Amino acid sequence: MDLTDLTMTQLREKLLAGEISSVELTRSFLARITRTDERINAFITVCEEEALTAAVAADKRLAAGDIAALTGIPLAVKDIFNTLDVRTTCGSKILDNYISPYDATAVARLREQGAVMIGKLNMDEFAMGSSSENSAAGCVKNPWDLQRVPGGSSGGSAAAVAAGLTPMALGTDTGGSIRQPASHCGVVGLKPTYGRVSRYGVVAYASSLDQVGPLARNVEDCAVLLGAVAGYDPADSTSVDTPVPDYLASLKAGVKGKRIGLPKEYFLDGLDADVKRAVEAAIETYKRLGAEIVEVSLPHTDYAVACYYLIATAEASSNLARYDGVRFGVRKGVGEGLLDMYQQTRAAGFGDEVKRRIMLGTYALSSGYYDAYYLKAQKVRTLIRQDFLDAFRQVDLLLTPVAPTPAFKIGEKMGDPLQMYLSDIFTIPVNLAGTCALSLPCGISREGLPIGLQLLGKPFAEAEILQAARAFEDATEWGGKIAPL
Ligand code: GLN
Repeated sequence: MDLTDLTMTQLREKLLAGEISSVELTRSFLARITRTDERINAFITVCEEEALTAAVAADKRLAAGDIAALTGIPLAVKDIFNTLDVRTTCGSKILDNYISPYDATAVARLREQGAVMIGKLNMDEFAMGSSSENSAAGCVKNPWDLQRVPGGSSGGSAAAVAAGLTPMALGTDTGGSIRQPASHCGVVGLKPTYGRVSRYGVVAYASSLDQVGPLARNVEDCAVLLGAVAGYDPADSTSVDTPVPDYLASLKAGVKGKRIGLPKEYFLDGLDADVKRAVEAAIETYKRLGAEIVEVSLPHTDYAVACYYLIATAEASSNLARYDGVRFGVRKGVGEGLLDMYQQTRAAGFGDEVKRRIMLGTYALSSGYYDAYYLKAQKVRTLIRQDFLDAFRQVDLLLTPVAPTPAFKIGEKMGDPLQMYLSDIFTIPVNLAGTCALSLPCGISREGLPIGLQLLGKPFAEAEILQAARAFEDATEWGGKIAPL
């Protein structure tokens, strides 16, 4: 048996029983990365030395009985999280040499909980994308089919978990970047409520939408990782000071008597036949488990993608102004005057998609257009949030597909940004509403690709969607798999 095939919870049992050491475990994952990641490209940086040092420290803590939630567990984080001493590139050439002077709060919390960070995971540049093809470090391959994308932007996180290169990973989700890759790679991924997890030290894309969350092989591991990073942080003024529940304690509560809503706008024609079949089977499973299924409406769904691409690009154009070769960024055009230096730095440092978004966002914010685009989008955003709050007065949670199709082929959508943007049609509304949602495996397509199910919860009802996900996982065979490589 290969240790790296086990889930975090199984590994933890072995660590606590003294059957394995953290050093041994860390070496096993590092060896699997060496064996396999050439084919997947999930890691941008593997930090072998730092990991082994942390593992030695974790073994000392274990021996002393000083045990926290993740003591000795190897894990990896998306390369968007600032990490002290290990570079943070955010998938961009412009941050190629950037080493942060501090840890992101989420990373600091993982370290406090005893986790061993083994590396930084590949992603779309500045988290802009749905396929992990927009990375200066090269595209990530889907471990279930190396010709296909793993989804994005946290594609490295999802692919690494699916391939057994790490038992769990942190990602970020601005418009679907945890849930859509989780769905395409057959793992569990959760986007918490806006404000649940600190964004301090996470490279900003669209600050009013960005949120940190866990990816793991099963629901239980996801619950543990969420619990480890969630909670108020005075360094992030948008983090919310409300207690973090014990997500494990209520995990097995089941769904008997729960009202689950199906938003009719999410079940229209155009949904891939395999996705439709898998999601319909999931609905039947929930009925069998005693949930009541109700149709609901989210009437402003049609406007979500347009609204998102105004707000997200507007915020991005402002957030990315700091990469000027002075404060941040690999400097180009030295000695040619300030303006030339700015221009050359940004022209050489940013990829095409990032440039496209900066231009779109700058346009939407420019005087004369602001009211027509940005302000209008903000109003639509309020209506979308209201749709969700209205629906949650009738039901406890919502159930939808995660993505309209299983993982697509590498290169298939690169020439057509609009098609790429539409692959997030079911995930984007949740970010606009600021609520929480998770993706869990619910089937396999005829081509052998994983299909995901999305469960959406009320604000701060992460415990409830985790419970519903766990009930499904217990009742079916879809969860917990590693891609056969
Ligand atoms: N695919 C969406 C985008 O490109 C969402 C990305 C994300 O959630 N970071 O903006």
